[in-house]
Order: sequence, then C-alpha cells, then structure tokens
Amino acid sequence: MTALPPPPATGCGAAPVLKQRGQREVFCGLTGIMWLHRKMQDAFFLVVGSRTCAHLLQSAAGVMIFAEPRFATAILEETDLAGLADAQDELDREVARLLERRPDIRQLFLVGSCPSEVIKLDLSRAAERLSQAHAPHVRVLNYSGSGIETTFTEGEDACLAAMVPVLAETDADDLLLVGALPDVVEDQMLGLLRAMGIENVRCLPARRADDMPALGPNTRVALVQPFLGETLGALTRRGARHIAAPLPLGEEGTTAWLAAIAREMGVDAETFARVTDAPRARARKAIAAAAATLEGKRVFFFPDSQLEIPLARFLTRECGMEAIEVGAPFIHRDIVGPDLDLLPAGPTISEGQDVDLQLDRARAARPDLTICGLGLANPLEAEGLATKWAIELVFTPIHFYEQAGDLAALFARPLRRRAALRLEAAE
Ligand code: SF4
Repeated sequence: MTALPPPPATGCGAAPVLKQRGQREVFCGLTGIMWLHRKMQDAFFLVVGSRTCAHLLQSAAGVMIFAEPRFATAILEETDLAGLADAQDELDREVARLLERRPDIRQLFLVGSCPSEVIKLDLSRAAERLSQAHAPHVRVLNYSGSGIETTFTEGEDACLAAMVPVLAETDADDLLLVGALPDVVEDQMLGLLRAMGIENVRCLPARRADDMPALGPNTRVALVQPFLGETLGALTRRGARHIAAPLPLGEEGTTAWLAAIAREMGVDAETFARVTDAPRARARKAIAAAAATLEGKRVFFFPDSQLEIPLARFLTRECGMEAIEVGAPFIHRDIVGPDLDLLPAGPTISEGQDVDLQLDRARAARPDLTICGLGLANPLEAEGLATKWAIELVFTPIHFYEQAGDLAALFARPLRRRAALRLEAAE
C-alpha cells in the first residue's frame, strides 16, 4: 500500500482564527431541501414561510409544473397574534389534505423560516400534534431553515438533528455514516466498506423511513459532511462515539477517512490495501489531469458551505495550490480539526464574515481563483478575478475516490476558461 503523505511540518490546527461578525452573503438553510428531498424518497418538506421562501425553492429546484414535488411552501400572510390560532388550524387542514392526497409520504418536515409570523408559530408543538394525528403511517418533525438562524448547509444539519431523538435504541456494534450523499456515491462508499468486511453499516438520512438507523452506546459515527455539528452533538449525547477523520474528499482525504474507520473496526492492513490500492491509483491519475492547471495557483475561499477547510486541504496538498484565505461560516473543530492539521500553515483562517472587509482582502490579494457565493461571483469576475460558485460544490458529486478527478476539474475549469478568453482577446 502507498503510505499517505506525511502531515505538514506546521498545519493550521493551532493557527489564529480571524473571527468576523458583519454583513454576510450566504443562502439560508431552506436550500438544503433541494438535496434532502431527492435523498429521502418518502419525505415531504413543508416550509411554513413567505412568498420569498416559495420563490427561493421554486427557482433553486427548477421544478417542472407537472411534476409532483416533495416540498411546498405554506404561505403565511401577515396576521396579528390573534390570528395564530387560525394559522395552527389552517396548518392542520393543509397537512391533512396533503397526506390524504399523497399516501406515499412517510415523513413530513415542517420547516420554519424568517417571517415574524412564522417565528411566533410553535412548529414543534404543531409537529407533535400532527405526528399523533397521523401516526403510525407518517412521522412529523420540525426544524428551522430560517436565514436568521441558519446558513446554507445548516438546514441539513438542523433536519438531521431533528431526526436523532426519534431514532430507535440499539446495543448493536455498528457504524453510522452521517450526511446526505447522492445515491451513486453512497453506494460506492458502502461498497468499499463492505469489501473491507465492515457489514453493520447504516446511513443517516436513510433513503426511506423504514430504513432509519437505530442508535446506541456501541454505535460509531463517521461524518461525510463537515457541516453537521448540531447533529453530531445530538448523536454523541445519545452515547454514539465519533470517529474523527479528514473528510473523504480527494484521494488523501478518502484514504485517511477510510483508514480511521478501518482502525476502529479492526480491519487489517492487508485487507485495507487490497480494497483501496486500485481506486487510490485511479483517483491520483484523475486528479493529476486537472492539477496541471491548478499547480502553483493561489486560491481564496469566502465562507459559504463549511466545506472550505477540507477543500483547501485537498487543493493545497493534492493539486499544488497555495491558499491565501480560507473562510468558513463556522469552524467545528471536532469535525474539521483533522483537515486543519493537514492544511499547511500560511493562509488566513477566518470564521464568519464581514463581507466588505473580506472583499477588500480578496482585492488586495488578487488570487488566481476565488471560491464564493453567487452574489459575489459576478462583480468579482467583472473586476478580473476568476471565480467558482461555492454552491456547485454542494450540488455536484465530489466525495470519495471516483469523484476526486471531477472535484479537481471543477476548480480547473474557471482557470482554463479565463485563459481561453485571454487568448481570444489577444488574437
Ligand atoms: S427563510 Fe428567510 S432568508 Fe430564507 S427564503 Fe425565507 S425569508 Fe428568505
């Protein structure tokens, strides 16, 4: 087996963190519904919100008018406190109508949002009441996707955390993999673990309500996404043990993630090498094709999805880039600590955002590539900076060996495009 490269002499684990609190440019947690409704095939997400929330969902999902989507917005018009009892009754009626029309729904999530009328509505009581009314066929849970309380990927965290208290109890010696991945990537991950002889593996979220995992003191938890701090806290409070590891992004991250699980589950080195050697070699080759464009280039991350630290580790250690600033909306050290340790010292590590100050830093640094939200990308492009939309990194399959080349290519594309444009302009 090829050994993993040694960690840097000085990583970013002990680096000072620039903490900023100001105006931020990030989508709200409702966005998570876009990938969660695809993942959980018998779940429905009912946003209790405003017309703005409905527009966000419609435009982000691009739902065709004849499709039967598995999310909707119950629009709460402006009302006063006296109208709230009516709002509860109206919600009950809407849910009853929905469940009657859609018997395929087994899990219903009431998703809170920003408007003050929604904040006044007690959605947890509503979920309890509706769960009792529609049990055992449907379980109703609630969480907030409000832009006041959550950023972009925290919606998934809030959703999964809401599921933890209702998971059944078990004493089984098992492994729970947490975080929504596209089915094809999840199948690759499960295939690798099975090939190592690790059998008792469950996923949260499960694809269907009947496959929901159980949980107990012998459950080991590995995260496939870095933004699940609240969920991890809820799982460990129920006795599960976290396997800390770099995130499975790139060849190195995937190997280190699998190695941490293999150690914990007693897989021997020979078996580990037999299962991982070939896909590791394939991943390295695929990364090398894109890394030629990335080598020596400077990258700047605006905070967006919390994937920034693992991605910076991948780009610096596997693609030869230099990180200037790595901004994340939140830094959960329990989760991204191993990635921070592997990230070579040098970049500014920042948490939170004061967008104007951060834009000043990016303009001064003139990075070759800036990873940022949609709202910042166009202005920065107009100023001559190549950008990559951070949201693409959440909507594109990027985890594990077979996607490692695509992940590197995602970053190489804007640099190639810019080089081609320059060439055209010169002709
Ligand atoms: S939850 Fe808040 S930020 Fe998100 S779309 Fe609705 S109103 Fe806008």
